[in-house]
Amino acid sequence: MNECVAFIGLGSNLEHPESQVQRAIQALDGLPGSSVQAVSSLYRSAPMGPQDQPDYVNAVVQLATGLLPEELLDQLQRVEQVHGRERGQHWGPRTLDLDILLYGDAVIETECLQIPHPGLAQRNFVLYPLAEIDDHTMVPGLGSVQVLLAQCPRGDLVCLEETAHSVG
Ligand code: ATP
Ligand code: CA
Ligand code: CA
Repeated sequence: MNECVAFIGLGSNLEHPESQVQRAIQALDGLPGSSVQAVSSLYRSAPMGPQDQPDYVNAVVQLATGLLPEELLDQLQRVEQVHGRERGQHWGPRTLDLDILLYGDAVIETECLQIPHPGLAQRNFVLYPLAEIDDHTMVPGLGSVQVLLAQCPRGDLVCLEETAHSVG
């Protein structure tokens, strides 16, 4: 099986967000043919879109996976379901959100999957944790994470505790 390195963005702002994110990291490590290679610190960020919702807890995980991009999306949506994700308002509150930020150097533009994730370059809660894991990572068409980070204000993003680490 060909392995690829993907980066997954995690977010939660309902029902004990830190615990949701920690349990989701374990779930990612348990996906078929996949293993977590690195985990960022956890961050707190203000909500996008509707402001009448709690702050988010965010993190980024580096995942080695033999799953194809569409298979990975399917698996991530299963994990969201297990965590009780309900789809309501656009950018509304959620127990768990799992986005594929990068999948190797793949560029994918289908109806249900866009990689690199379209919000990656503008979102501080994605770029700061991603840079903690590997700021040399290249974002196809946009340059290195380091370069994108330099153009992205940190704003009110808070690192909850510096716990970034590699696994294995
Ligand atoms: P955003 O994508 O702006 O962060 P969101 O995470 O709130 O918003 P969702 O409601 O979780 O959006 O997902 C809507 C759809 O986005 C999913 O059903 C999925 O098909 C699609 N999608 C497209 N590209 C990706 C990606 N790279 N990772 C995850 N989902 C994606
Ligand atoms: Ca998202
Ligand atoms: Ca999503």
